[in-house]
Amino acid sequence: MLKIRNLHAKIDDKEILRGINLDIKPGEVHAIMGPNGSGKSTLSAVLAGNEAFEVTEGEVTFNGKNLLDMAPEDRSREGLFLSFQYPVEIPGVSMVNFMRTALNEHRKYRGEAPMSASDFLKLMRDKKNLVEIDSNLTNRAVNEGFSGGEKKKNEIFQMAMLQPKLAILDETDSGLDIDALRIVANGVTKLKSPENATIVITHYQRLLDYIVPDHVHVLYKGRIVKSAGKELALELEEKGYDWIKKEFED
Ligand code: ADP
Ligand code: MG
Ligand code: MG
Repeated sequence: MLKIRNLHAKIDDKEILRGINLDIKPGEVHAIMGPNGSGKSTLSAVLAGNEAFEVTEGEVTFNGKNLLDMAPEDRSREGLFLSFQYPVEIPGVSMVNFMRTALNEHRKYRGEAPMSASDFLKLMRDKKNLVEIDSNLTNRAVNEGFSGGEKKKNEIFQMAMLQPKLAILDETDSGLDIDALRIVANGVTKLKSPENATIVITHYQRLLDYIVPDHVHVLYKGRIVKSAGKELALELEEKGYDWIKKEFED
């Protein structure tokens, strides 16, 4: 589904991704961990098409297509979804209009007619229940004045509405209390299927108790320096990153 080869990216002449290789198949969950400043959010931004970053080397294919050639909105239409580490507020755009527009754009890309108003409202209701968000939230402007937890839940609500093939969750667990964490994690788990895949970026093993990864990778200084099964997350929780840094420097 996703194939990343020797990906390098920079911002302001500072190289941040320095040769990333990663393969993701349908049905898989990959966790990406690593110290702050390693390039985890940069990798998500580059995959989503954030133009602030310049790709200097490497290839990325998604569903067999060259992802790096596609506009951000086409990456979304192809089924890529990014839950932001820091969700942005969009004053003046209501959640309802935002979701209806996004959903219908996706349908148009697949050659489907816009969703009827009643089907759309029913879908909104179902997905709101999935992440247990307050009913009024969807009448408000996107993320405007939402609490930290509400913003993170709202990211998963959008994911539930759009049903992406590949979802990248960038520290969706940070800033959530225990109950919100469980709701968000269960929401993500319910959306899992053999056809879609998830990349979970997190600092905490806690989230991975709910969303069990098939593979865990450690990103350090712009490279994946270690990959293993879910036991690696437990080892990192226990021992921190120093041993990985040392192994890498050696
Ligand atoms: P992580 O998500 O692993 O904590 P980031 O991808 O956010 O790491 O950051 C990696 C490095 O890139 C850091 O040194 C950070 O300061 C730098 N960086 C990220 N975004 C920008 C930006 N917009 N301008 C300049 N430097 C940036
Ligand atoms: Mg960080
Ligand atoms: Mg980050």
